[in-house]
Amino acid sequence: MVQSGDTTHTRAEIGVIGGSGFYSFLDDVTEVTVDTPYGRPSDSLFIGDVAGRRVAFLPRHGRSHHLPPHKINYRANLWALGAAGVRQVLGPCAVGGLRVEYGPGTLLVPDQLVDRTKSRAQSYFDGEARADGLVPNVVHVTFADPYCPVGRKAAVDTARASGWEPVDGGTLVVVEGPRFSTRAESLWHAAQGWSVVGMTGHPEAVLARELGLCYTSVNLVTDLDAGADTGEGVAHEEVLAVFAANVGRMRDVLFDVIAALPGNEERTCLCVDGIGGQDPGIPLP
Ligand SMILES: [Zn+2]
Repeated sequence: MVQSGDTTHTRAEIGVIGGSGFYSFLDDVTEVTVDTPYGRPSDSLFIGDVAGRRVAFLPRHGRSHHLPPHKINYRANLWALGAAGVRQVLGPCAVGGLRVEYGPGTLLVPDQLVDRTKSRAQSYFDGEARADGLVPNVVHVTFADPYCPVGRKAAVDTARASGWEPVDGGTLVVVEGPRFSTRAESLWHAAQGWSVVGMTGHPEAVLARELGLCYTSVNLVTDLDAGADTGEGVAHEEVLAVFAANVGRMRDVLFDVIAALPGNEERTCLCVDGIGGQDPGIPLP
């Protein structure tokens, strides 16, 4: 799958799915072009050293931000990371707050997920022949707790130690997008007791689980969603401005989380055997 470079530079242990602001200033970043049985990921992997760990950064929307949330090839993205050796994934993403106390700049580490997406391939194990002729079995993963408990604790503890007190737990509802919610949808999301709303958190976590990868979602609130706000509703410029203002400290927290994660061979969490011993029918990366 690796097209160039020697393998010491093209392997990684931890993955970060996020924008170029997280890796663009690192020294000695190796760009690795990857193909997968599910097509091309959003972009190359950009692999570099953070706190002595080899980390693969994957721009979720492509480096020029040309992919909207519903057009991202999530299966290729997680597969590409796994194929590079990644076993623990951090998924930072911008979200809207569904409660007035979760205003812009809030950091939230969710422990639950609600899927309101519509069109996304969200399993490797669909029983359909792939382009390479291999046919995966149908597998049903346990997903009661969608996020890695070890990664979640590392994220919460690290943010707290840095002075950016996070919201520990909460429910991320993922909508199809690319539009923002109507007021009625937003009020309904809030009335369910859900915490934040985004467009990219699903199906990343479930695909990671299928591949036996740890996945930790880290949410930066960039706006109050339409129902929680008395203004005109969410505007994209507002989201970009808040994200830009916080990308530096978000990066600092993520790098501290990377340092705090266990070695891949030391993992004992539920994620390791994500498919619970079921036969996938295909070799996994
Ligand atoms: Zn885990």
